[in-house]
Amino acid sequence: MVLKVGVIGTGMIGQDHIRRLTQVLSGVEITAVTDIALDRAQSAAPAGAEVFETPEALIASDKVDAIVICSWGPAHEEQLLTAIAHGKPVFCEKPMVTSEEAALRVMKAEVAFGRRLVQVGFMRRFDADYRRLKAVIDSGTLGAPLLYKSCHRNASVPEGLYTSEMPLNDTLVHDADISRWLLSDEVVGVEVRLPRRSSKGGELRDPHIVLLHCASGAIVDVEISVNIGYGYDIRGEVSCEAGIAALPNRPATVISDAHGYRQALPADWRERFIEAYDQEFREWIVAAGEGTATGPSAWDGYAATLVADAALRAVESGVLEPVTMIEKPALYTDGISLGQALREENA
Ligand code: NAP
Repeated sequence: MVLKVGVIGTGMIGQDHIRRLTQVLSGVEITAVTDIALDRAQSAAPAGAEVFETPEALIASDKVDAIVICSWGPAHEEQLLTAIAHGKPVFCEKPMVTSEEAALRVMKAEVAFGRRLVQVGFMRRFDADYRRLKAVIDSGTLGAPLLYKSCHRNASVPEGLYTSEMPLNDTLVHDADISRWLLSDEVVGVEVRLPRRSSKGGELRDPHIVLLHCASGAIVDVEISVNIGYGYDIRGEVSCEAGIAALPNRPATVISDAHGYRQALPADWRERFIEAYDQEFREWIVAAGEGTATGPSAWDGYAATLVADAALRAVESGVLEPVTMIEKPALYTDGISLGQALREENA
């Protein structure tokens, strides 16, 4: 069976996902696209795809079995709710939504529908290096995780974004999600520290240090730098009771010349996570073909939204801001991981 997909939002990542769905992956066909700028949708539309004037018309069309949302964050809620109302599986780029209330409405609609339909675009969970790191932690051989250092360094930010809003709403959500997933834990409080401002960004508030306090007592220390200029540099290191597990450096050609030995850094997220995005969609296509969703859920989108909200509050207050979640609906309960079980057994 070939999954017929409609894409909403044909900007930077929308075009990249259209490329992978048409040129890299199988079992899928893009039958519909839409964007606020119809000419952008027109030029991004692959051969045979219809350009719809609105997301509502695209979602309702019987040419579309499943939806990929790549519009900007504030538009996601309405598009998710429409997809759920039509009972269609939907992949939604992060951030799932931009407020706690919106996240609760999305979960309420999905729970009322009675089956998972939403997968959120936290692609790091599909990266082979992060998966191996999680397997080591879950095996329990290093004991309980105590600390996780996550470095998220972007080359540059779009002009005009100077406050903490973009780094904490758009960037931190990836670190929040991967931390929860790696440590099988929930975040219960957030602190933010503002170090010396980099002179490279003018008025830009950069970098940020974010401390995520987890329910187990583990602490995640996240560096968010959004304007390093020289590339895209992602690192992670988990300190456990009996050892340390770290993400490896990405294999890259080693250049030897007058400057010494060096390896190139990826230019951006498209290059660093190219295989992760492919795998994320490979798994999405299988689940969507069965009328459901696996992978990062609306619950995970909700959790990341709460962390971003708390971080923004913490910038203002300068103190630890609590994160309070509702009770997890049964739809999102997938049991505890093997690692958790082993750690509890050994405790
Ligand atoms: P972008 O280049 O601005 O593309 C977004 C596109 O959606 C634009 O063409 C925009 O039109 C259009 N759009 C906005 N609201 C819409 C609506 N209500 N209905 C239809 N189209 C609408 O942004 P992007 O970088 O592709 O990012 C899109 C989403 O992906 C964001 O949520 C972003 O955070 C996420 N993202 C995720 C990753 C990742 O690593 N997973 C990486 C990059 C981006 P206008 O420009 O005219 O508003």
